[in-house]
Amino acid sequence: MLPRPEVTPLTEPYWSGLAAGELRFQHCRDCGNAWLPARDECPRCLSRSHDWQVASGGGRIISWVVYRQAVHEAFVERIPYNVAIVELDEGPRLITNVDAREEELAIELPVRLRIDEDDGLHLPRFTLAGGRWSR
Ligand SMILES: [Zn+2]
Repeated sequence: MLPRPEVTPLTEPYWSGLAAGELRFQHCRDCGNAWLPARDECPRCLSRSHDWQVASGGGRIISWVVYRQAVHEAFVERIPYNVAIVELDEGPRLITNVDAREEELAIELPVRLRIDEDDGLHLPRFTLAGGRWSR
């Protein structure tokens, strides 16, 4: 069984959004900054005034690693698998997986959001957008 996230009042809009087919991120009402994961204060200006917005689904690969050893027994049958940092078009970055072969991954590669239901969890993952090297 996959490890379960700890859902708190702060993170509930994120998880309920995924269950509803939306990737939501926080947006600062004072400076316009947008971020993930959820936190009480804007990481840029420390304002506590924010709302939640819905990601358009576009993004690009910032970096990734390929796991060849499982860090949890739930992942043993998935190795090798990638863990990537994707920057959404709206700015927030998240740690995720990209559904692609290792040799297809590249920095700056455009990706597209896909919300997977995996072991009862709704998780934001990405697929390659437009094929290799497209911009
Ligand atoms: Zn701010």
